[in-house]
Amino acid sequence: MTVGTLIVGGGIAAVRCAERLRRAGDTDPVTIVAAEDGLPYDRPPLSKQALLDSAVDRPVLKSSEALDALGVRLLQARHALRLHRAERRVDLDSGESLSYDDLVIATGSVPRRLPLLDDAAPHYLRTWDDALRLRNALRPASGHVLVVGAGVLGLEIAATSRALGHEVTVVDAAPRVLPRLGGPGLSEIVMALHEQHGVRFALGVTVGSVIPAGDGAATLALSDGTRVDADVVVVAIGAVPATGWLHGSELAGHDGVETDAACRTRDDRIFAIGDVARVERSPGVHERLEHWTSAGDTAAVAARNILARRRDEPPVQLEELPYVWSDQFDGKLQILGTIGPDDDLLPAVDDTESGRWLRLASREGNLVGVVGWNMPAAVNRCRTAIAARAAVTDVVTAAPWERMGRP
Ligand SMILES: Cc1cc2nc3c(=O)[nH]c(=O)nc-3n(C[C@H](O)[C@H](O)[C@H](O)COP(=O)(O)OP(=O)(O)OC[C@H]3O[C@@H](n4cnc5c(N)ncnc54)[C@H](O)[C@@H]3O)c2cc1C
Repeated sequence: MTVGTLIVGGGIAAVRCAERLRRAGDTDPVTIVAAEDGLPYDRPPLSKQALLDSAVDRPVLKSSEALDALGVRLLQARHALRLHRAERRVDLDSGESLSYDDLVIATGSVPRRLPLLDDAAPHYLRTWDDALRLRNALRPASGHVLVVGAGVLGLEIAATSRALGHEVTVVDAAPRVLPRLGGPGLSEIVMALHEQHGVRFALGVTVGSVIPAGDGAATLALSDGTRVDADVVVVAIGAVPATGWLHGSELAGHDGVETDAACRTRDDRIFAIGDVARVERSPGVHERLEHWTSAGDTAAVAARNILARRRDEPPVQLEELPYVWSDQFDGKLQILGTIGPDDDLLPAVDDTESGRWLRLASREGNLVGVVGWNMPAAVNRCRTAIAARAAVTDVVTAAPWERMGRP
């Protein structure tokens, strides 16, 4: 008997995978098991509009009518507890045990904790409930917000807190902002932008000790000898893949579930997608990306390959370039391609009047990525040149960002 596809997760990757299966003509059962209560929702607005505007509601990805129309069964508020690979079965905390023909692991990631701060009851931001708690804490808007972590999420929270009128200090053990994304050139540009908006930074510094002051407020002693009195403390020091339920399955490694470029794990009936997956992006190189677009890209590949196996067709490979965007203050930062710490960033557009710019990332003279500020069309027009790793001198001559008129 056909039991179809079981997708464990309930975030954007899970929803996109179910949609893609149906779009490709799959008529077998599709079930999503989701740990959170309520309909699947989108996370990017949680650090932006949802904090800024109390009227913003849970950004639902699919209504129950839309899920019904797709023929997708959603089991909410159920945790997958254990995978039995040999029997193709997953145990849930509800006592149910679900069989599958194909399993998709889409359990995402959870915030990395900073136990030193536990007594101060800091905020973490991953779920809608987290966003509601932080939104309440950020009103009224005249306090001091301390953000631990200068990655994309920490900087978004910093920008949003400034926009709400708070004083903001960002602390990070790394010597630069965005330590895991791009190189020092990008860090300098983004840090300067934040400083122009009044954000203060303590970089290359760790939190030494904490004296809680109640209601989420605390005094923090930093390793450089300074003390910060914070009304709200937010920790955004990265995320770890949610793989606890895969214990004993031999699928989860030190940083997620490894797959080939077809999003297949070592078990050909099991796929991994989204934040939890470490996908082979070039031969022998596995990367776990916490990017919204990557969740959709890997979902599409897994859906195609579930059907390819059933139809005895060759698998498709993930070919999309990594892409991440971040809304900070009144602008949109976009990074397309893979930019390493040693890559050169060359200016392509510097429009100081409108505050837009574009940088080309060059590795040994070839284009490996672009970074843009408020230039979505221009970033997109560089896609072909990045995929081809074109010579940067040729790219500068061709100036693909100028096609169709203004950059
Ligand atoms: C606040 C915030 C802002 C962001 N902004 C941006 C942005 O601007 N740009 C960008 O590119 N990316 C952004 N991201 C990242 C992007 O949202 C993620 O890459 C994306 O949500 C990953 O989707 P996913 O489905 O893989 O994982 P998730 O969205 O984490 O979904 C996984 C789901 O699985 C559930 N789950 C976990 N374990 C189990 C289990 N055992 N059983 C059942 N269910 C389980 C979880 O509860 C969760 O609901 C942001 C992330 C956050 C948190």
